[in-house]
Amino acid sequence: MTDRIPQVLTIAGTDSGGGAGVMADLKTFQMRHVFGTAVVVAVTAQNTVGVQNFVSLSETMVHDQFKALADDFTIKACKTGMLADAEHVRFVVHNLKKYHFGPLIVDPVMIAKGGAQLLADDAISVVKQALLPLATLITPNIPEAERLSGQTIKNRSDMQQAAQKLKQLGAKNVLIKGGHLASQAAADYVLLADGRSLWLETPRFETKNTHGTGDTISACIVAELAKGYDLLTALKTAKQFIYASIANPIEVGHGHGPLNLWA
Ligand code: PLP
Repeated sequence: MTDRIPQVLTIAGTDSGGGAGVMADLKTFQMRHVFGTAVVVAVTAQNTVGVQNFVSLSETMVHDQFKALADDFTIKACKTGMLADAEHVRFVVHNLKKYHFGPLIVDPVMIAKGGAQLLADDAISVVKQALLPLATLITPNIPEAERLSGQTIKNRSDMQQAAQKLKQLGAKNVLIKGGHLASQAAADYVLLADGRSLWLETPRFETKNTHGTGDTISACIVAELAKGYDLLTALKTAKQFIYASIANPIEVGHGHGPLNLWA
């Protein structure tokens, strides 16, 4: 008899360039030895230089993808990425309440490195009110944490305060990724449900090949949770996985290249 492999789900947008979004998530799931499935919310025309265009899928298509997966798979953990607009956040919340897909990691994707807006402004309040209370973990970068918490973040103490605010909004655990802060180390702040907190640090590696970093971190956490590891272990594994992927660059495209997940 063969072992059943843990099955996981990403609910997000595609990246035709293969470095971010659903593509990054599925590649990460594969590397972390879990079986990846996807509910595609939006399709982007994109490469390493930027996002050229995107379209979001109809309500029926979103609901039908959720149903297809719920009818056939046992999803152990899931994540959200690019959700496009307020309407689509609501469609996703509806389905997350209807089906049981295990712990939910919310990566509140807002703006791509090239500047494209992947979440409409009017969706921020819906994310705060409807999606965050469902989140086992939220994984914002600094600009996303600022937007959701209303707290300006210039240093580590600001990161800690913002994490408290995100927890008050309903996210059980919080990971704020510090990569956007100018400092020697890439320091991420973790605030856990039981009140414990810690910093996860790796040396900073200067490179333009960081496309899809946020997607990959959250997908790695989903994979580790699905395999049965506790959240703190999953967070530490993901931090090391990302560091190795950034510190051993591959050459793809002419802009912000993708990570090296084989590293
Ligand atoms: N495109 C999609 C579909 C994404 O989900 C993301 C994730 O953040 C991005 C683009 C942005 O990637 P980055 O900002 O790392 O270039």
